[in-house]
Amino acid sequence: MSVLVVGSVALDTIETPFGAVENVLGGSATYIAVAASYFTSPIRLVGVVGGDFPQQGISFLEDRHIDLTGLQVIKDGKTFRWSGRYHYDLNERDTLSTELNVFEKFEPKILEKNRKSRYVCLGNIDPILQRKVLDQTENPRVIICDTMNYWIERKSRDLLETLKLINVVILNDSEARLLSKEPNLIKAARVIRAMGPSIVIIKKGEHGALLLTEQVVFSAPAYPMENIFDPTGAGDAFAGGFAGWLARTDDITEENLKRAVIYGSTLASFCVEKFGVEGLSDLTYLQIQDRFREFRELSRFEED
Ligand code: AMP
Repeated sequence: MSVLVVGSVALDTIETPFGAVENVLGGSATYIAVAASYFTSPIRLVGVVGGDFPQQGISFLEDRHIDLTGLQVIKDGKTFRWSGRYHYDLNERDTLSTELNVFEKFEPKILEKNRKSRYVCLGNIDPILQRKVLDQTENPRVIICDTMNYWIERKSRDLLETLKLINVVILNDSEARLLSKEPNLIKAARVIRAMGPSIVIIKKGEHGALLLTEQVVFSAPAYPMENIFDPTGAGDAFAGGFAGWLARTDDITEENLKRAVIYGSTLASFCVEKFGVEGLSDLTYLQIQDRFREFRELSRFEED
């Protein structure tokens, strides 16, 4: 099943206590598309880059068989750039700079051939743009939407309009509290479900993730990582793994949603093991399956 992915395609400069990289391939759409590409095809990426975007970046995405016909290239513009520095506690991150560049005037255009995509994954971008994407799609089966505190604080009315149109929202714990104005995450999810999405996923960083539907509260463990080099893109890799698995199976029963959450967590765990998208560059389906099974063992116990 096809997945339409919309979001930022970026050149990131990242500093963590373990090293630094400059102008490497990044962006929410990039991480989502690459993670999803391990499960299904076609993955259709919609975004914008400038004339300075390296051919290496294009080749990397093409090697993952990601359809780039929806990627706009503004020849005389500069690619979106983001720079961040992580603290010794990798949960803490300072954004050092955000240069929107070509992203500032980004108008997502969904090509005729991509409008019927059955799964749509909206990366963390302006909720107005997310809605413009949905205006151009034709009856997707599942719409998954990522967001962040920036949009909750600055464009809450627009975000509320977008939330009415989607099926799955993915956010982290502090964003869920901010959006719902409710400190308890179970209650927060109920408030958010009333805003539109019937499925709410709350990521809790190194403490795993919660899946909440009308019937189910499922708590996924976090993978006990010894070597985290760069948390950038973990949330997007989660969304990509989740969307990719759902699209591969085209099954949105609650049992399969739980599996999708574990595949999302699996891809996020690979992502943080290396800098930038490198952790997602060279996986095999067998490696993914092995780690998926390790997740199951993590919280399996015998009654007596
Ligand atoms: P995450 O670590 O999941 O927050 O994702 C990090 C990615 O988001 C990086 O690759 C950045 O290029 C991208 N990013 C950072 N800020 C923004 C923004 N304001 N809009 C869109 N993408 C962004």
